[in-house]
Amino acid sequence: ALPVIYAITPTYNRPVQKAELTRLANTFRQVPRFHWIVVEDSSVRTELVARFLARSGMQYTHLNIFTPRRFKRTGMPRATEQRNTALSWLRSHRSRKDVGVVFFADDDNTYSLELFEEMRSTRGVSVWPVGLVSGRRYERPIVEKGKVVGWYTGWRPDRPFAIDMAGFAVNLQVVLGSPRALFKRRGSQPGMQESDFLKQITKVGDLEPKANNCTTVLVWHTRTEKVNLGNEPKHRQDSVVIEV
Ligand code: UDP
Ligand code: MN
Repeated sequence: ALPVIYAITPTYNRPVQKAELTRLANTFRQVPRFHWIVVEDSSVRTELVARFLARSGMQYTHLNIFTPRRFKRTGMPRATEQRNTALSWLRSHRSRKDVGVVFFADDDNTYSLELFEEMRSTRGVSVWPVGLVSGRRYERPIVEKGKVVGWYTGWRPDRPFAIDMAGFAVNLQVVLGSPRALFKRRGSQPGMQESDFLKQITKVGDLEPKANNCTTVLVWHTRTEKVNLGNEPKHRQDSVVIEV
């Protein structure tokens, strides 16, 4: 059987949340052997997300953990606790017998179906280019003779792994075999989450390049514009209550 792809999606309540999750589900639903781990940044699992997932027809796990307010300032890394909660879930619900690949899928990015075909064969940690990130059209690992030897990036090329969250996948057995590997709050500078995590589980020379030796963009770091709700009535005017 194909390895299961476990996609970890942190998500939080905002006007576009259901639209984002709908876009993702429409992509992920088409991927065989796919298990969606959705982690809400919330003190409860909300009705909106619970109902959405139940109706999605997908295999999923619905988790939640609220980010402490002190970590919600600008310039601080986002969704650290949510990704770690998903890793803990995998470590307590999956074992040596399970064959899978773990991928961090933020709720606003754009994913091609080919990306999942590429990452499915990840033996340790695999990498590929990400479009529309680091102030450039794309960022990518530079590959020579099948090995990663550097990074093409517009931002801090000195990072040990100059790669976005959407630019790598990890074999499930690597996640289970490094039980202490987590995303860090303490001592982690903004933009260093990926490097801090990856250096706990791999070395640059061991990375497996995907997507034509990292020359094809199959995922885009798109960001959704903030919605204008300036004309919302102060008090309810409509005769029905509608979830959006
Ligand atoms: N996120 C979250 N809580 C927050 C802010 C973001 O759970 O307070 C999630 C968000 O839904 C997304 C991921 O964390 O899945 C990364 O956030 P965002 O897309 O805003 O980051 P950026 O695009 O700036 O890297
Ligand atoms: Mn984003």
